[in-house]
Amino acid sequence: MDAVVIGGGVIGLAVAWRAARAGLNVAVVDPEPGSGASNFAAGMIAPVGEAEFGEEAVISLNRDSAARYPSFVAELELDAGRSAGYRQTGTLHVAVDADEQSALERHYRFRQELELPVERLSSRQTRDLEPGLSPSIRGGMLVDSDHQVDPRAMIPTLLQACSRLGVQIHRSRASLLVEAGRATGVALDGGQRIEAASVVLAAGPWSGAVPGVPSDDTPPVRPVKGQILRLRGSPEMIARTIRGGSVYILPRGDGRVVIGGTVEERGFDTSVTAGAVYELLREARALVPDVAELELVEASAGLRPGSPDNMPMVGDSTTPGLIIATGHHRNGYLLAPATADAVAAVLAGGTWPEATRPWSPSRFRRPAGVGA
Ligand SMILES: Cc1cc2nc3c(=O)[nH]c(=O)nc-3n(C[C@H](O)[C@H](O)[C@H](O)COP(=O)(O)OP(=O)(O)OC[C@H]3O[C@@H](n4cnc5c(N)ncnc54)[C@H](O)[C@@H]3O)c2cc1C
Repeated sequence: MDAVVIGGGVIGLAVAWRAARAGLNVAVVDPEPGSGASNFAAGMIAPVGEAEFGEEAVISLNRDSAARYPSFVAELELDAGRSAGYRQTGTLHVAVDADEQSALERHYRFRQELELPVERLSSRQTRDLEPGLSPSIRGGMLVDSDHQVDPRAMIPTLLQACSRLGVQIHRSRASLLVEAGRATGVALDGGQRIEAASVVLAAGPWSGAVPGVPSDDTPPVRPVKGQILRLRGSPEMIARTIRGGSVYILPRGDGRVVIGGTVEERGFDTSVTAGAVYELLREARALVPDVAELELVEASAGLRPGSPDNMPMVGDSTTPGLIIATGHHRNGYLLAPATADAVAAVLAGGTWPEATRPWSPSRFRRPAGVGA
């Protein structure tokens, strides 16, 4: 094997598919591929909407990955022979009261200073664009370039593309094999060993608990709980993703709607709480009153892989042959193309692209000789 990937979420599968496309022999090991955070995500590809004050360095990387989406998806769909659910429908940020209106103004100015493509809208323009919005909306900010992908289409499509390109999928947990200081492959639950020139650790929030990973290379990843709702109803209710307060309402275009998402530090707890469901629905209804008419189909919780600075950890470990690819937190779908392209290039014998150097896991390593 050229490479074995531990973890079959969006990151591990995208890496495996890209590496297979580059001509490598690849295997993915996961007891249940696509069952982690990747199964619960909304799928917003939103580098402009997600831009945060103080994170200017991250924004260009996020935009670079978003820009890769159209060709990434076109190639993926070609290889898989099925849709990945990518839609270029844009996002409308709205304010329901005076406080939100001034916050929206700050967000707008911040994006303008960075020359990001945003448009400020009056209350009337906002509701002309989305008549389903509450009459109390004070104003909006349109981000036409923020798009979406449907995770429940993307994961099966990645699996299909992997299988068509000959990627082996092993349904098992993996532990890392290290011999003479070098990663040499993985061991499966039944004891089977897969030898590989490189191993990619992409086990999401569980990446810190994969057996066999040397302690110096254990990524400092933590689970960040996100509760999210899936509903069904009128395809005409809204045309684009609506964001306001602390919620988003994302239409798939076929009547399916996603409302999310909480951000909670609760360890590996994935319980769905009445309070979170209530708050998500209450806030969503204040933006789009007809949300109350939709059928509630699913309430669930996933665990985002967060790093100490909430930026991904993608790069070499100190163990030769072991590559880390985790910590994508709220942006795993957004960052899948840039991550997969960078890791596949290195697996194929290249070097890390200059652009992804800020993601290097080395930023969390203690300098040699410094105690805990
Ligand atoms: C509610 C919610 C909404 C989100 N919305 C968005 C969004 O709109 N846009 C966006 O870009 N991102 C979003 N995200 C974030 C995104 O889902 C994550 O960043 C992304 O899914 C992380 O992918 P991953 O492959 O690293 O991890 P995961 O999807 O968690 O996959 C890790 C995999 O590793 C496997 N594994 C664990 N241990 C082992 C082992 N020992 N051996 C083998 N396999 C193992 C697990 O079974 C799992 O399948 C959201 C997340 C949540 C929870």
